Amino acid sequence: MVSLAMLITLGVGLGRFFYDKHVDDNLLENAVVDFAIINHGSVSADSQNRTLIELEREKRQLHTQVTASGPLQTVQVHLFATVADYQKFTGWATWSGAYTRCSPRVIEVYLPAEKAGSAFTREAPTSGPAHEMVHVVECQILKERADFVPSWFAEGLAEYESSKGFSKLPDRVMRRVSLWWNRNKMMTEDEFLNYYPSESEPAERVAVFYNSCLEFMRYISARFSEDPCWTILVDVRNGGIFEEEFTSAFGQSPNNLYLEWLKSF
Ligand SMILES: [Zn+2]
Repeated sequence: MVSLAMLITLGVGLGRFFYDKHVDDNLLENAVVDFAIINHGSVSADSQNRTLIELEREKRQLHTQVTASGPLQTVQVHLFATVADYQKFTGWATWSGAYTRCSPRVIEVYLPAEKAGSAFTREAPTSGPAHEMVHVVECQILKERADFVPSWFAEGLAEYESSKGFSKLPDRVMRRVSLWWNRNKMMTEDEFLNYYPSESEPAERVAVFYNSCLEFMRYISARFSEDPCWTILVDVRNGGIFEEEFTSAFGQSPNNLYLEWLKSF
């Protein structure tokens, strides 16, 4: 027998489905304008659309930062069917899952496309497109001063922003546990603050770095707010020195704050 509760559940489920579809259609419509797609190999139209939707969703989430940094530059999105295809084409290390090349003229994103499938069979979106979209906005703000911000800060913001939301909770918990598990391999302040994940780096160390970036940025945002981080980027673009801008925004040097976080972790 069909109960009232079942009918209500079905009604809410269907309503949710049509609402999500409406939002996705709307995101896709805007994404087609914002991003120029270059397909490498056999990326299905559905996969391509899923990726565009995730890029656009993050862009909308970073709305304030995007608006403040002026009209979005040309963003070229290079899509690959698999991570292996991406690594083969770019020649990047096996730990690398996506990449954003920042130049003042054009911003290029290289990433594997999201998985296709119907609303019922599809896997949850990965944080890959959102992560790269944060780099796009960072690049948009910093322009030719992109190299004046340390890797931990650019990656920290990308990790933190792209792992927000309820659907990313299991991933956040897993990464926190993984870092805690590897706590005897945590980087010293000098290592972390000057680290650049180069190709020769072992994957395990790169993972400690990215997990530390996420957790450290979460710590900063919880203790203060994430807003000053975006303001620091604007200040660096306008000629400021990163260390000085950071210290004046938070009243502590990155060095001291990192040590404070390490102690609290
Ligand atoms: Zn990144």
